[in-house]
Amino acid sequence: MVSKDIKEKAEKLRDTLKHHDRLYYVLDKPEIADQEYDRLYRQLKDLEDAHPELITPDSPTQRVGGEPVKGFKAVRHIAPMMSLDNTYSAEEIRQFDNRVRKNLGPERIEYVVELKFDGVSISLLYEKGQWALGSTRGDGLEGDDVSVNLKTIRSIPLEFSREVKKVPKLIEVRGEVYMTKKAFEALNRRKEKAGEELFANPRNAAAGSLKLLDPKIVAGRGLDIYVWGIGHCEGMDFKTHTEVLDYLKECGFKVNPHYKLCRTIDEVIEYCNSWEDKREKIDCEIDGMVLKVNDLSQREKLGVTSKSPRWSIAYKFPAEKALTEVRDIIVQVGRTGTITPVAILEPVHLSGTTVSRATLHNFDEIERLDVRIGDKVYVEKSGEIIPKVLSVAMEKRTGAERAFRVPAKCPVCGSKLVKLPEEVAVRCENVGCPAQIKEAVLHFASRNAMDIENMGDAIVDQLVDKAMIKDYGDIYYLKPGDVKALERMAEKSAGNLISAIEKSKSGDLNRLIYALGIRHVGERAAWVLASHFGKIEKLQEAAVEELTDIHEIGPVMAGSIYNFFRNKENMKILKKLKDAGVNMSALQVPKKSGALAGKTIVITGTLKSLTRPEAEELVRRSGGNASSSVSKNTDFLVAGGDPGSKLEKAKALGVKIIGEEEFKKITG
Ligand SMILES: [Zn+2]
Repeated sequence: MVSKDIKEKAEKLRDTLKHHDRLYYVLDKPEIADQEYDRLYRQLKDLEDAHPELITPDSPTQRVGGEPVKGFKAVRHIAPMMSLDNTYSAEEIRQFDNRVRKNLGPERIEYVVELKFDGVSISLLYEKGQWALGSTRGDGLEGDDVSVNLKTIRSIPLEFSREVKKVPKLIEVRGEVYMTKKAFEALNRRKEKAGEELFANPRNAAAGSLKLLDPKIVAGRGLDIYVWGIGHCEGMDFKTHTEVLDYLKECGFKVNPHYKLCRTIDEVIEYCNSWEDKREKIDCEIDGMVLKVNDLSQREKLGVTSKSPRWSIAYKFPAEKALTEVRDIIVQVGRTGTITPVAILEPVHLSGTTVSRATLHNFDEIERLDVRIGDKVYVEKSGEIIPKVLSVAMEKRTGAERAFRVPAKCPVCGSKLVKLPEEVAVRCENVGCPAQIKEAVLHFASRNAMDIENMGDAIVDQLVDKAMIKDYGDIYYLKPGDVKALERMAEKSAGNLISAIEKSKSGDLNRLIYALGIRHVGERAAWVLASHFGKIEKLQEAAVEELTDIHEIGPVMAGSIYNFFRNKENMKILKKLKDAGVNMSALQVPKKSGALAGKTIVITGTLKSLTRPEAEELVRRSGGNASSSVSKNTDFLVAGGDPGSKLEKAKALGVKIIGEEEFKKITG
């Protein structure tokens, strides 16, 4: 039994931390120093570690540290999350206003105009003021349950503020999860260093982060949220949208302060225009404004179309463009040998940043645009942080421009470049290419891969240039003496590097699979493969068909995995890793839960009461894998009407066959 004192102490600490969380994350007005906060947090954590029965689900310590999940459950929204129609001009905004007036007659109409955040729409469900569930918008009717990841966002209250007088039985709060420009740039810098593919813009980064299977990684991504309304509410009535926003603020949600109540459409247009210039001044991407009828009973009268509400519309800002000169076109060699052309630009101011390079994607794109060195070009950044060349200002050509020649040789190692017929990309196929080795080693050592701290650019450059390593397998054979001999390497950091390398040997299998750098295999796929196979040998032996049988693994990825393990060079490196004692098995056996946990099920024929996707969803919800073809690994086949060849195959292989009723009973 925990004493009353300790219980009260924990409770007090929780309240204090929640109070400061709100000041810091929601109101942006911290009252205590970070160290002081950390001290209080530590105290609570220690208490909870000593007395786990004190942990409450809404404790600030419970936001991070959730276990990785295998996938996300589908959630049906209580009220559909509709999308908005877009407008692009003042004229179209007036047309919207005319439609609203025509429908409502001579009533007085007020609009609330809000910033349109370029993020991911999500829904948060609260039961009696306690957070119950958070999901993505999905297709508007059904989204993914991403509660574990949303929980890491500190500005989402786990319970309503105690000062709130009235709490509804059930309320669905809606908002936009976004990544600040700063967090986005930092994330891309990390990804660039690690040789990973960059996110195109903060929205993609936010969406990608919410879909990560490991909440610990999500917690480090710097996601935030603005809530902008409710979808459903039981046990409370609101009259206007501004009233809703005020209430949400009071409950402890983060509501963006830049919304305006407008009484005329001229006022609306003026406010929209004013933000076109101001939008650079705030630290998150906005791509337009949203107009909403303020009176909720008027909304009711206006109703909805099949796609969108008639009482709201989005106004999108025009994309920002700038004219500048192409000083040069260079090529970069990526981790997999892909050669990417990049335009070096006369620095130009665009969307709040100075732009001096723009991607040209591939050589076909150079041809399509007919861009030449010395050309004046239009560059665009429409929510995209990595700018792109839109078109060439042909009328400005002087004749002095030089056409770009696709290099025949790799700019780094001099090998002949190859263009595969089925790919747009041109690649350097020399596995010994220093540019590729460096990128591959950086990727291998990166945080989400083997996580070898201190293995940065400068060190990898030297190790590869001095031929101390020829591939990432050699990392594990470095001697303290070798490392100490590197330039600018202090004794202490040499020791740190060696111990970081040692430590990485015991990482989990999904990290290793991701670290190998198999083309098309990202973090998520690596996780899926690790949980499915459990051991690297099993993955290594898997036939293409077995791989494509796994939900989420497509034929391109399967082919890439298969080929990777049939390449002699790769196998030599893998052996080096094995011999060095790098862990090759899954440490965390995925949680077995649900009636079909760990089972592979194939559905064939027509089911009477379920569509195919519904049946497959049932399989996944029960913890199983829904596969499309029968093999010896199939646990059972669900046979509907007109089952066809799969039934024959299952019979031949001795796979258990069940009918629809039994299937429903199992997954019930
Ligand atoms: Zn090369």
